[in-house]
Amino acid sequence: MDISDDNPYLLLTPGPVSTSPGVRRAMLRDWCTWDDDYKELVQDVRRRLTWLAGDEDGAYTTVLLQGSGTFAVEATIGTAIPPGGKLLILENGAYGRRMARICRVLRIPAAIVSGSEVLPCDLEQAERVLRRDPAITHLAMVHVETTTGVINPLKEFADLVRTYGKISIVDGMSSFGGIEIDISGMGIDFFISSANKCLQGVPGLGFVIARRDELAECRGRARSLSLDLYDQWREMEEGRGKWRFTSPTHAVRALHQALQELAEEGGVPARNRRYRENQRVLVEGMERLGFRILVPRAFQSPVITTFLYPDDRDFSFPDMYMFLKRAGFVIYPGKLTDVDTFRIGTIGTVTPEDIQALLEALRHFQSVRLRNSAYRP
Ligand SMILES: *Cc1c(COP(=O)(O)O)cnc(C)c1O
Repeated sequence: MDISDDNPYLLLTPGPVSTSPGVRRAMLRDWCTWDDDYKELVQDVRRRLTWLAGDEDGAYTTVLLQGSGTFAVEATIGTAIPPGGKLLILENGAYGRRMARICRVLRIPAAIVSGSEVLPCDLEQAERVLRRDPAITHLAMVHVETTTGVINPLKEFADLVRTYGKISIVDGMSSFGGIEIDISGMGIDFFISSANKCLQGVPGLGFVIARRDELAECRGRARSLSLDLYDQWREMEEGRGKWRFTSPTHAVRALHQALQELAEEGGVPARNRRYRENQRVLVEGMERLGFRILVPRAFQSPVITTFLYPDDRDFSFPDMYMFLKRAGFVIYPGKLTDVDTFRIGTIGTVTPEDIQALLEALRHFQSVRLRNSAYRP
């Protein structure tokens, strides 16, 4: 890993993630937003993202949107669901629950199927709700629930939605670019992600990969002016890369560079191998140090891993966090209500060697602590 001297630590978080020097350097110039050079850059980013979705016949398009990932989720929900429509949300963590909150704020009728945070979403229960409630028009699910690192059954979800003739919305924020996803093959209608997770760009924009024919139905449906996905799409199409409102030029340029670097790494399969190896080395090493993982292995994504606090009642997460930060690593607190956990991300420009170095630092932390507690009166 290449940390340039202005980066004091490596981010082992679910995003934003550590970026390459090339991606950071790409931001060192200014752009005119309506100049053809810039608009061509925008169009190239859109083409590459649509291509990554597996689109072969032009059935899909990509709309870029200013803001963090949640803005893109809110824009999609607010634009896709027509008056009189109803969204069924399959939820097993904070990001699924966030979609439910978006519906409440936008006054969009929603039904929620809640499941255990350590298990994948329950599709059978979702099917029972679907059978009972003919008002449901759309279904939504998070692919990798970053709350815990659980990976949800995307193919089975997409099949269920298609079997019932409904529209699918997928929050693939923390998986796109790091896990192979055949969006087109699965027939997903709206797939949402952002620049600053597995694509290894910087924060500032999200995007939605959408079926053109479904997006074309969405005119005039949006409950917001700036989060109108349809209008954003039309402006980008007709203006050939023009954004409706000021575009995050530097972040777009960084994403362009990040997509180039993804291709140079060997595409999504190669990146997935690196992330999986990061995660394997992490879990093996952490278990050797006495930590236990929360999520059953079969449902664990390579993106982020949740660890339980050790039984030791002297364990202090803030102490461990500060120690690791000084050693050059930033990890993440847990996000569960009922168990004490912390999380370590394995995405971004992170390598298995970085993970080894983290484990070495943790070993050091543990031995210092043991020494200190031995001297306690
Ligand atoms: C990161 C993330 C989001 C978006 O979070 P923002 O803070 O708005 O960027 C949404 N869903 C999932 C699953 C995520 O991991």
